[in-house]
Amino acid sequence: MCGIAGYVGPRNAKTVVLEGLKRLEYRGYDSAGIAFLDQHDLLHIARVKGRLHNLTDRFRNDLDSAPAAIGHTRWATHGVPCEKNAHPHRSADGEIAVVHNGIVENYQELRSQLQGNGYVFASDTDTEVIAHLIHYNWKSRKTSDLVDAVRATLRKLKGSSAIVVLSTLRPDTLIAARLGNAGGVVIGYGENEMYVASDIPAILKHTCRVAFLENGELAVVTPSGAAYSDSSGTPIIKHPVKIEWDAAAAEKGSFAHYMLKEIFEQEQSLTDTLRGRIDISRNQVRLDMLNMTDSVARRLSGVTIVACGSSYYAGLLGKQLIERLTGLHVEVDFGSEFRYRHPVLDENRLVLAITQSGETTDTLAALEEARERKAFTASIVSVVGSQAARVSDGVIYMQVGPEIGVATTKAFTASLVDLYLLAVFLGTARGTLDTNRRAELIRNIATLPRLVGKTLESMQHSGVIEAVASKYTDRANFLYLGRGLHYPIALEGALKLKEISYIHAEGYPAGEMKHGPIALIDERMPTVVIAPKDSLHEKMVSQIEQVKARNGAVIALATQDDTETAHKVDDVVWLLNAPEMLTPILAAIPLQLLAYEIAVRRGTDIDHPRNLAKSVTVE
Ligand code: GLU
Repeated sequence: MCGIAGYVGPRNAKTVVLEGLKRLEYRGYDSAGIAFLDQHDLLHIARVKGRLHNLTDRFRNDLDSAPAAIGHTRWATHGVPCEKNAHPHRSADGEIAVVHNGIVENYQELRSQLQGNGYVFASDTDTEVIAHLIHYNWKSRKTSDLVDAVRATLRKLKGSSAIVVLSTLRPDTLIAARLGNAGGVVIGYGENEMYVASDIPAILKHTCRVAFLENGELAVVTPSGAAYSDSSGTPIIKHPVKIEWDAAAAEKGSFAHYMLKEIFEQEQSLTDTLRGRIDISRNQVRLDMLNMTDSVARRLSGVTIVACGSSYYAGLLGKQLIERLTGLHVEVDFGSEFRYRHPVLDENRLVLAITQSGETTDTLAALEEARERKAFTASIVSVVGSQAARVSDGVIYMQVGPEIGVATTKAFTASLVDLYLLAVFLGTARGTLDTNRRAELIRNIATLPRLVGKTLESMQHSGVIEAVASKYTDRANFLYLGRGLHYPIALEGALKLKEISYIHAEGYPAGEMKHGPIALIDERMPTVVIAPKDSLHEKMVSQIEQVKARNGAVIALATQDDTETAHKVDDVVWLLNAPEMLTPILAAIPLQLLAYEIAVRRGTDIDHPRNLAKSVTVE
């Protein structure tokens, strides 16, 4: 989950790497560190506990240029966050520095062996074994080839890891490698300069030409380019792809937080998500990169959605949309559970992964499992060329640009839209949607971006979210209730609040409240109820009554002008009147804003919530 940045070239590598890390802080912020070579090819390392600015401050007045550097922001898995555990780690002779993303599962065993060979460890991390093992391999082979030593080291590591090595032994070179699904390694191409990063935003300002490492691959990166090879050392030819993202999209602009910027971007991001996908005149949904022919779609026996966190909740809504429009049975599973539960799969099953980064380890493992069982695999992904996109038979890109806020917002709504499109696509191919219904669904989704824009405008002008946030900021617990299509949104609303305000919150299907959670209701427990005027409205009103009867405060998301509901509750947030299948997407917006405004009032670090990181690349 950590952030890695590396640079070789004519500019000051320290500055380029520190800037790159700044754009990756969403990936980890337990500590930060940099290793660089000076003009005499001597290796220097600087590391700090905590946030990156503690490190950048140190280099403020440092004008000495460095030709090569690697840097790291850590999300600790082994060893507490502190300076000695911060990356880069170095070999005992100080000649080799390593930054690492992932987990060395057999590090204890390797550590004991290395200690037996006289190596002394300076940290509690799993990572340090990599630095010593490279050194050991290099020495014991008595070869000047550091690359061979790195490759030999990788062969000894269990688990998933991505590493970048900088050494005085090959001063103008970075060696990057990927083992398993521990997150991406992106190689960026400049003019006589090259970049390495764990994620595209780190290098987007400099280049949009990138190549990605696959499992087992290694790249030897020098200012003039990169040479790739597989785990056995066989050379591989890779051609860089062009990333269409706009560098400004990875900047915060005038917004206080990336999260707020991304919430307010949603009219545009959903317009982009829909771009090229719907054709009203032809009454068509086009998902070209899904690579699914009508006959494959017709043969499907069911769909399994695998995802984690918010993407899992998106999957729960996707299940309802696909079941309604296609008649296919859909199950949704956590990536982390799927592979361990011996899922029943066959070649007629669509296994659909949802992962913003395309690098979520648990989800990738689920995809692998599905591929082994010969299922048709597809993924809904934001990052072009990421691992999930590469290993799936088909892909639906979110087309929303980079998302930097750790708590997802625009990628969540984009995945809901992609699921809607997939449901219409499958329903069309399978003949379960007649022409009129299809036309209606396509016309409806085309109106969504504008409805989202209007929702955001009305939230901003009415000040309702700020008012509700101020009223309930001091509460310790929240309940979120929804039914049908809105149950997954209740779960997502609760998760958003937990993630960034650290308030305990639970999402429940409203009808389940009486089976337990109702015991929690008292005057200190606010309940957020998603209660638009839909087919389940009356049932939601009963639920509201039940909470009110127990002195609980109710914040309702209700359809505009539904004064009857408004009179029953303490606070009302109006939702626009919209087609039933779009309302959940619209309801997600005020819940994102509510979590944000409460977090602002509680003074939390919204873009870097504690213990969390984006792109969860450890198991
Ligand atoms: N396992 C390593 C550590 O705890 C790397 C963690 C990361 O990916 O940031 O330092």
